[in-house]
Amino acid sequence: MKKAIYPGSFDPVTNGHLEIIRRGAMLFDQLIVLISVNPNKQSSFSVEERAAFLRKVCYDIPNVRVDSCSGLIVDYFRSHECDIIVKGLRAMSDFETEFQMAHVNKHLCPRAETVFLCADSQSTYLSSSMVRQIAMFGGDISPFVPEAIKDDIIKRLDRTNKEEQ
Ligand code: ADP
Repeated sequence: MKKAIYPGSFDPVTNGHLEIIRRGAMLFDQLIVLISVNPNKQSSFSVEERAAFLRKVCYDIPNVRVDSCSGLIVDYFRSHECDIIVKGLRAMSDFETEFQMAHVNKHLCPRAETVFLCADSQSTYLSSSMVRQIAMFGGDISPFVPEAIKDDIIKRLDRTNKEEQ
């Protein structure tokens, strides 16, 4: 049985992430979508909100589980006896950081292989930060996020916007 983790911020999950999740779930027996909590990186959505969004959009993929971790990815990888790290690769901009991260992870845990799935042409320029910006300025995010969470994202960012004014 091959168990993979797909780590990221998912702040919030986009159609690009979901596409990687679906393909990863077809390649491996179990896929854990891992919200990695970085205390130095300010997020717009709490871990609980991000996990709820992910669970909602992955409800129909039986071999996907959502979890979070606040330490090193390789520590989670080891303690949960995982086999593969899945990452998505968008345009060239992702390559440098992801390449470095894959090497560091392998150095820290030699059996941690990273498998890269290329983003499809529809979502190669899509990021969570772009979705947040469009939503905050009242633009239409429906082409970029799963329909099931679209309104929740808009409502939540709208509330934050009003609280900050
Ligand atoms: P971001 O905040 O930039 O959207 P995340 O940290 O949530 O990114 O990304 C987690 C993983 O998903 C990374 O491997 C990243 O390259 C990948 N990813 C992010 N957006 C997309 C997308 N639109 N298509 C494919 N992979 C993506």
